[in-house]
Amino acid sequence: MKKWGLFLSLIVCLCLTYVYILPIFQDKVEIQQYESNENKISDDQGKTENIVQKEITKEQIYQGNLLLVNSEYPVHEGSVRTDIINLSEHNELVQGYVLLDSESYLSRDIAHKFSEMIADAENDGLHHFAFTSGFRSFEKQQALYEEMGSVRALPPGYSEHNLGLALDVGSTQMQMKDAPEGKWIRKNAWKYGFVLRYPEDKTDITGIQYEPWHIRYVGLPHSAIMKEKDFVLEEYLDYLKEKKKILAKFEDEEYTISYYPFSENMTISIPKDHEYEISGNNMDGVIVTIYE
Ligand SMILES: [Zn+2]
Repeated sequence: MKKWGLFLSLIVCLCLTYVYILPIFQDKVEIQQYESNENKISDDQGKTENIVQKEITKEQIYQGNLLLVNSEYPVHEGSVRTDIINLSEHNELVQGYVLLDSESYLSRDIAHKFSEMIADAENDGLHHFAFTSGFRSFEKQQALYEEMGSVRALPPGYSEHNLGLALDVGSTQMQMKDAPEGKWIRKNAWKYGFVLRYPEDKTDITGIQYEPWHIRYVGLPHSAIMKEKDFVLEEYLDYLKEKKKILAKFEDEEYTISYYPFSENMTISIPKDHEYEISGNNMDGVIVTIYE
């Protein structure tokens, strides 16, 4: 009888574990760290035909979606997105939100991701989004800095808005920190590759006050990992630097994410026929994301 009881409780436990754990992992990212020197593509390394060598130039440290911009690491001229558009001339991209300024600029790519996100928010019943600020040229940032002062604005070259990868989104009804739109963004932006760049509990790391309106594009799977690990960009880039290489599983896709410090004449190995992205960190190296 006792044995049966034990057996039954074991079965119940296993069922509960199945029921409870499974939904938690859905929609979430699983992260594995490679043991030092273990390399998933090492199996292929003897077969050079399966590997492509990519040369990395110094400029690549300053290009991509993962650039860190803060008081220590300013925007380089080559970092500014080259696909900046004026949203007021692209009605097809301004659906489900209003522009507060007819001079609202953003990277075209990022504008697409943003409108995809807002369309889903609309389906969830959110209808009061406002686009308050996007890309700012260095001249515009200078004017803003002079107008707002150093407490409320960053000097030119030190704002993510100078990249074209960040934007401010508000609510037409109330302050973003109280608005349902703000709550939705906090909960869901990561699914679209965006992160809330200056959260309330990370001001000691970012050095910037809580900004519930400022979102920054980093792309997937990075935004999912940052959400899972509760990292801001400073922490995420430090983490990659420390781990050197991680494997992330997200929505049935696997990604290998590696950090490489820059050196002269450097090349990196990419498995042939795999999609990949290379982004600088704006500090000292590049992050390579390979779709496995
Ligand atoms: Zn902002």
